[in-house]
Amino acid sequence: QEPFPPPGRIRVITIANQKGGVGKTTSTVNLGVALALYGLRTLVIDLDPQGNASTALGVDHTVGTPSIYDALVGDSTLSEVVHPTTASPNLLCVPATIDLAGAEIELVSVVAREHRLRRSIEAYVAALPRERRPHYVLIDCPPSLGLLTLNALVAGDEVLIPIQCEYYALEGLGQLLNNIDLVRQHLNPGIAVRTILLTMYDGRTKLADQVADEVRNHFGELVLGAVIPRNVRVSEAPGYGQSVLTYDPGSRGSTSYVDAARELAQRGVDLPPLDSAAGSNG
Ligand code: ADP
Ligand code: MG
Repeated sequence: QEPFPPPGRIRVITIANQKGGVGKTTSTVNLGVALALYGLRTLVIDLDPQGNASTALGVDHTVGTPSIYDALVGDSTLSEVVHPTTASPNLLCVPATIDLAGAEIELVSVVAREHRLRRSIEAYVAALPRERRPHYVLIDCPPSLGLLTLNALVAGDEVLIPIQCEYYALEGLGQLLNNIDLVRQHLNPGIAVRTILLTMYDGRTKLADQVADEVRNHFGELVLGAVIPRNVRVSEAPGYGQSVLTYDPGSRGSTSYVDAARELAQRGVDLPPLDSAAGSNG
C-alpha cells in the first residue's frame, strides 16, 4: 500500500474528552498503529493510570515498569521509559502504570508542573537524530480534566476529540473546549482543536445519524470524513494485546481506522514548520 505522507512538522496530538468510554484509547492505539504501519514513526504516550493503551499495544505496565510516571514526577527522560511494540518497528509506546493515579496530587508541588510533559517530549525529540524523530506523538488522556490532561494540553500542538455517536455526545464538551481556551490564553498559545473523530457509529440507528449530523454542523471541517463504526473486532483486539489492524485487518473497524489515519496524515502535510511559522505568516 501507498505509505502515508509525512507531516510538515512533528505533530503532537492530544486525544482528549473528559467523558469515559468514548473511544479515546481505542482511537489513540489504532490511529497510532495505522500511522506506523503506513510508514510514519509514531510515539504513543499513555497518560491514563488505567494503562489501557499500554495493554492494547502489548506493552507491560505492571508497577515497577519504567513509565510516564517516572518522567512526569521523577527524573527519568522519555528515552528511558519508551518501549518498543510488536505492532510495528515504527511504533513506540510510553506506558502508564497505576502509580500515575497519584501523579495528579504529587504533581501539585512540582515546579512548572503543567509543563512537565511538554519539556519531556521536547528534550526527547531534540536528543534524537532527525531520521529517528517521531512524525507523530499521540497522547491518550484520562477521562478527567485534572493535571494529567492539563499536561497533555500544554504538551500538544493540537487536540483530537473522539465523539461517540450516542445520546449526550456533545454534553460536557463545552467544559473541555473552555479548558482548551484557557490553556491557549495562559499556557500554550498554539493549542487548538484540529480534529473530531466520530466513533462507535451504529448505522442501523437513526440516532447515530442525528448525532453525526449535529457534530458536523457544529464542528464543520474539523470532523474527519471517515467514521469509526461500532464493530466487535475493535473491542476484542485489546484482550489479545493488539490493535484491530493486526488482530483483524479485514474488519470494518480496521479499515475505518486506516481511512481515518490516512485523512489525518493528509491534513498534516501542509503544516508549516513550527519555528518558521512566525516568520512566514508575519
Ligand atoms: P475511552 O478511552 O474514551 O474511555 P475506550 O477507547 O476505552 O474509551 O472505549 C470504551 C470501550 O468501548 C472499550 O471497551 C472499547 O473496546 C469499546 N470500543 C471502542 N470503540 C469501539 C468500536 N468502534 N466498536 C466497538 N467497541 C468499541
Ligand atoms: Mg481510555
